[in-house]
Amino acid sequence: MEKLIISVGITGSRITRKQTPYIPITPEEIAQSGIEAWRAGASVLHVHVRDPKTGLGTQDISIFKEVVDRIRSETDAILCLTTSGIPGRNLSIADRLQPLSLHPELVSFDAGSVNMGEHVFLNPPEFLEALAKETLEMGIKPELEVFEVGMVYTCLRYLEKDLLKSPLHFQFVLGTAGGMPATPKSLLHLSEIIPQGSTWSVIGIGVGQLPMAIMGMVMEGHVRVGLEDNIYYSKGVLAKSNAQLVDRVVRVAKEFGREIASPSDARKILNFS
Ligand code: ZN
Repeated sequence: MEKLIISVGITGSRITRKQTPYIPITPEEIAQSGIEAWRAGASVLHVHVRDPKTGLGTQDISIFKEVVDRIRSETDAILCLTTSGIPGRNLSIADRLQPLSLHPELVSFDAGSVNMGEHVFLNPPEFLEALAKETLEMGIKPELEVFEVGMVYTCLRYLEKDLLKSPLHFQFVLGTAGGMPATPKSLLHLSEIIPQGSTWSVIGIGVGQLPMAIMGMVMEGHVRVGLEDNIYYSKGVLAKSNAQLVDRVVRVAKEFGREIASPSDARKILNFS
């Protein structure tokens, strides 16, 4: 079996300190939490940053730079920077593309719009086309985030139009309020309709995190865990860190007999040129 790539959604943009005291907020906390997760076995760090004043997500490039510099100085982790903007705020395309200027190896590419709680997570065609063009020009691989099945077909259309390049890398996001549920059937269907030779990883939101991680592991995909997607370790018990969530996946993978990919293994698996 191929080695397992573990990605970590370090903090996202929405979880607050009221929900969990363990969510990293400052650039130093976000970087440190990512570094600990890398030490625990994560090879991909998915990064959002927070405005230290409001505690919520920001696209402020200077804060991104501080986090990225700190992580790069201590790890060889693959960085996957977010382009998702801030929920409920209609940021310009240019603002959302700013993290690309830091030359990460991966950026998130949310392949369509979807309702998320009180907000619409807007990813209109003009944004997706601009993002796709920029990733092609800069040689950055888009991580194709899929919340529902139509988004796979959106990616296939962009592949036909040469806006995306094979082999594709998908991140299935299952269990959001407006998307597909975190069930084995969702994952089976999605993994069957993507082009041969694609790589995929799965995120289960909330209670879906551990079951989807185990499913992804068994189905020879890859997995993402982390506080962005789930703040609990078990029912009613908050996770204390991203590393704690990574540790558990590493333990299960070892029992199952799947080796953990280092960042350099992950670069080969993800076909970075
Ligand atoms: Zn994210």
